[in-house]
Amino acid sequence: MHVTMVKKRLKNGQPCDKCVQAEELLKRRGLWERIDEVVWADESDESSPGMQLARERNVSLAPFFIVKDGPREDVYTSALAFIKERLNGGAGSVEVAVEPTSAEALALELAGKSPGEVVRRILKQYGARAAISFSGAEDVMLIDLAAKSGYPFSVFSLDTGRLHAETYRFIERVRKHYGIEITITAPDTVALEDLVRKKGLFSFYDDGHSECCGIRKVGPLRRVLTRYAAWITGQRRDQSPTRADVPLVQLDTNQGADGRILKVNPLAEQSLADVWTYLRDEQVPYNPLHDQGFVSIGCEPCTRPPRPGEHERAGRWWWEDTTKRECGLHLPK
Ligand code: SF4
Repeated sequence: MHVTMVKKRLKNGQPCDKCVQAEELLKRRGLWERIDEVVWADESDESSPGMQLARERNVSLAPFFIVKDGPREDVYTSALAFIKERLNGGAGSVEVAVEPTSAEALALELAGKSPGEVVRRILKQYGARAAISFSGAEDVMLIDLAAKSGYPFSVFSLDTGRLHAETYRFIERVRKHYGIEITITAPDTVALEDLVRKKGLFSFYDDGHSECCGIRKVGPLRRVLTRYAAWITGQRRDQSPTRADVPLVQLDTNQGADGRILKVNPLAEQSLADVWTYLRDEQVPYNPLHDQGFVSIGCEPCTRPPRPGEHERAGRWWWEDTTKRECGLHLPK
């Protein structure tokens, strides 16, 4: 396959904004090396090679991609469509194992590896059958690492219906920034309507968060994870006392199509400071609520910024006992 990217050079000598954005997107996705040649369409020179290619293919948009594969030629005027249709969502070829590698073997193999190495290893084997669950800052670090690996991968997010407006906008920003598809789950309508009719919209302040989280988060997670072979999470050991033993790799026997799924926690050994150093160094998008003092961000009615000296998840379900500060997504094996 030979790929030509045609970029437009404006009369002022600068590349067009969309051409710059497309190049940045390809670089963020680790796909830039898949462009074999760049040809310029000079706005001030109708005879420039790119202008000629545009005329010959009757294209009026820039950038565009000419993909030659044997006798076949396709033209894409969207970088996203080009990535999705011709690069299978990523550049690397996935090695589908005949037998899934055991969690124990992977744990041994990946011990001491960096988060980027762990993500790359998992995606190399599972590709889009590995899914990153996306809600917080850690998860965008994982998405950034996955995007840079060049391998295909999947992302899903649990829409509880109670997230902050900032979080919804943030999810959309991440989707566009990386040019990825994000599966957004919804709670079971019948169960949710039943809960709200009987107990109202804020039952969690009276009876605890388990029932509401069960319907808005745990059920949808169980459903979405049946589609994947591996689940990549942003859990870290130093997030809270309830996560102190999070392993790098484990077999989760509470989830998955056949009651088991490989669960990988590439950031298990990372600190909050490590994550933020990465986000800043790599200019990764983050939820603007962090600038207002929020650290771990969940649903709007159940999240507040932690107080000085509290651990980072102390602002989640703050009215409950510290030992119950999990929503049920990460159950013990
Ligand atoms: S975090 Fe709060 S609003 Fe969100 S699902 Fe759990 S109990 Fe319901």
